[in-house]
Amino acid sequence: MGLYKYLLNTLPRPLLIRLSYPFKLIVPILYRGNKTHCPVCERSFSKFLSYGSEVAHRKNVLCPHDLTLERHRLMWLFLKEKTNFFSANKLNVLHIAPEQCFLKKFKKQKNLNYLTGDIESPIADIHFDLHEIPLENDRFDVVFCNHVMEHVKDPIRCMTELHRVMKKGGWAIMQVPQDHQREETYEDASIVSPKDREIHFWQKDHLRLFGKDYPKWLEKAGFEVDHFPVTALYNEQEIEKYRLQKSEILYLANKK
Ligand SMILES: [Zn+2]
Repeated sequence: MGLYKYLLNTLPRPLLIRLSYPFKLIVPILYRGNKTHCPVCERSFSKFLSYGSEVAHRKNVLCPHDLTLERHRLMWLFLKEKTNFFSANKLNVLHIAPEQCFLKKFKKQKNLNYLTGDIESPIADIHFDLHEIPLENDRFDVVFCNHVMEHVKDPIRCMTELHRVMKKGGWAIMQVPQDHQREETYEDASIVSPKDREIHFWQKDHLRLFGKDYPKWLEKAGFEVDHFPVTALYNEQEIEKYRLQKSEILYLANKK
């Protein structure tokens, strides 16, 4: 277990996911139990694993089977309970920077026309820069673009582009790391070294740290935003069972 924990905390998640197969057989046995539940792989455990960099280390958050984190489990639950994602007849879906824990499942889903895009990831269908999406207007019913806007040069431009390729009546989930203590998003173009960026923006390759004003950025790009705080969606026991982040707010960005 020492080695497993060491690897978890030192390797980047995408690499981890590829290396994790032998561990995936052993760890669920070691973590057999009923205290936590991952709705994505539908398995229960005595606890989850810990995860995160020095700046943002969290205990009991990483599902040992499919490596979901708090935000993945929240999005999955939300899709199941509050949207037509699994029940609609036909949905055109654009998934930017697709999360590995969702990719196979969404690909298998018969009711989706499912397209994935990324600037470089080998697992995506097409590659492009989000500032200039090479796709036609009014095409998608659903867009996912999580943990991207903190990396891009011009988030409003990228959001506007996503808004453009969506149909009227479509909805998007574009979660970002968000500092709920901070009123306004923190940007400083003079902070450029990976080390400083990690200290100020929580990760080496982040260009900003979003604050409570994040939904206003989405509104600037033309979206109407519904707010779903975790604490309004789930009670204490559910938050503990699924190990969600209590402060997280899921924003549903609608194109009206
Ligand atoms: Zn899981």
